[in-house]
Amino acid sequence: MTHPFLDLAPLTAERFASIEDRVARLLGTAQDVVVMQGEALLPLEGAIRATAGPGTTALNVITGPYGQTFGDWLRDCGATVVDLAVPFHTAVTAQQVREAFAEHPEIDFVSLVHAEAATGNTNPVAEIGAVVRERGALFYLDAVASVGAEPVLPDAWGVDLCVIGAQKAMGGPAGVSAVSVSERAWARMAANPRAPRRSYLSLLDWRERWIDGGRRALPHAPAQLEMLALEACVARIEAEGVDAVTARHARAAAATRAGALALGGGLEPYVHEAAQAAPVATTLRAPSGTIAAELVARALAADPALPLAAGGGALAKEMIRVNHYGADATPGVVRGCLVALGAALAEEGLQVDPGAALRAAGESWHG
Ligand SMILES: *Cc1c(COP(=O)(O)O)cnc(C)c1O
Repeated sequence: MTHPFLDLAPLTAERFASIEDRVARLLGTAQDVVVMQGEALLPLEGAIRATAGPGTTALNVITGPYGQTFGDWLRDCGATVVDLAVPFHTAVTAQQVREAFAEHPEIDFVSLVHAEAATGNTNPVAEIGAVVRERGALFYLDAVASVGAEPVLPDAWGVDLCVIGAQKAMGGPAGVSAVSVSERAWARMAANPRAPRRSYLSLLDWRERWIDGGRRALPHAPAQLEMLALEACVARIEAEGVDAVTARHARAAAATRAGALALGGGLEPYVHEAAQAAPVATTLRAPSGTIAAELVARALAADPALPLAAGGGALAKEMIRVNHYGADATPGVVRGCLVALGAALAEEGLQVDPGAALRAAGESWHG
């Protein structure tokens, strides 16, 4: 008996390399793209441990929970870390990054999260990249939540280490991820005596055992199911067109924002400026006197398939997340979320107008 997940033919090196090439095309990059055999935290940690050491001064931008984690890894590597934290309802500006360099000219590494699914903001990477390049620092970007939802262009933006995962806007598997690596980043790793080697975290191992050999022999058995799923997910994006996929996410975000504002009841977008709101997910501030996690639980009880969540940790009280990404970036899902949140607010005795919310969302989507 054949099974769709089992008894598969081995995944060849050629097929593996072709999947890497398709990911590179998606990112518009001529850099080496290494598809990593694990969730995105693998290349996120591997890239920091490979490039940072006691001689590094890192500017670590914190616009959500991941920035905190990157700072911890950097400090663990012995780097001196300058944290630049901005409130979660906003984005960092290129001017703030410029000021950090002026204050600490020794900064030679910048870590940044592009879009934050956890807080709903998105940062101006192109503008920040111009500042980072001017100062000659290495630029590390977490694009896990932005890829597929908005353009991610490491070469055009001067990103040296661009990490993506397939599980958000790409609508793909969680168990594989990728990082594009510039020549400057490879050189920094080669010069770093503390860069992991003979380790699952090691990017240098992949260069030595895979790329330098012309990608003809895989260093170890690939995560076959995840690789096939990644290939299918990239093929689906290619078929729809990457511009159409990102446009669909932008519409979902704008429609959710417009609908939430029209719904009333005191519901507000969490990110103040629409231009700083991430296309991948829209965060909302629960009306005062309500608890976000309770509103979400009530909405999910009405429709468990809706991509709603409360904020993580301390944000669970005040933040509602509408995760309209991947297959959920549709007018129907946005409508469903607005209706369910409207009903949850009405149960709290708040005055809401679901009809106005649906009209505003529809006009935003189609207008
Ligand atoms: C989702 C996400 C990741 C991947 O981490 P998981 O929590 O394991 O999905 C990394 N960075 C960002 C910015 C993300 O949104």
